[in-house]
Amino acid sequence: MLSEIFCPICNTACTPLDVVDFNKSCEEARGKFLQLSGIAVYYYHCDHCGFCFAPEFNQWTLKDFSDKIYNDEYIAIDPDYQEIRPKSNKAVIINFFESNKEHIQHLDWGGGNGLLSQLLQETNWNSLSYDPFFNKETEIKTLGQFNLITAFEVFEHVPDVHQLMLQLDILLKKNGIVLFSTLLSDNKINKNRRLDWWYAAPRNGHISLFSKESLIILAQKYHFNFGSFSSGLHLFFREIPNWAKHLFKVV
Ligand SMILES: [Zn+2]
Repeated sequence: MLSEIFCPICNTACTPLDVVDFNKSCEEARGKFLQLSGIAVYYYHCDHCGFCFAPEFNQWTLKDFSDKIYNDEYIAIDPDYQEIRPKSNKAVIINFFESNKEHIQHLDWGGGNGLLSQLLQETNWNSLSYDPFFNKETEIKTLGQFNLITAFEVFEHVPDVHQLMLQLDILLKKNGIVLFSTLLSDNKINKNRRLDWWYAAPRNGHISLFSKESLIILAQKYHFNFGSFSSGLHLFFREIPNWAKHLFKVV
């Protein structure tokens, strides 16, 4: 019998939702299936806030993740990771903030090999990349503080979201904003023990799946306001800096 697990977002007792093979990957959405690994991964679901997660990854070290997920085969199940996504994310940032870039100190959290920051630097942005798997020797406190932190496709990879929030809090200036992407699970996860959503993919490291409500509760715990531009792009902020006010249209 599986042990009782509590929701890391709202502390409600959770039940197992489904078990999937470790090799379930996001590429299944494009019709590409890996061979089954034979390793079972249990996902739990919180009926209160909608958070869905695979608690066994809490025991994994960074080395475990490097060896078993972010290894040489990772590119095959996330082919957009190296180039396509950094380029499209650059376009998002430019679209939002290019005219105010002189006011912005930007950190790209989870930026992999740093391509997004590099592309921004080439157009005179003050931008830095940090990724726990690429900058293993870097202590977070030595990075400084930033008023724009982006975290594209990061939250769903994190086994301990509170550790991430505490780290972001250290790095964020008082009037800064966190712009992040992760697909909301609302209407994607049903409760009849079928986790067939393509985004729920342990082989991709997608182990924390957020509903809108779970992000709202998470924001409140860290005294942030929460906003969404879409089902995939979101904001945490305390005060809205002048250079970002144009994003908040008063209707
Ligand atoms: Zn919950």
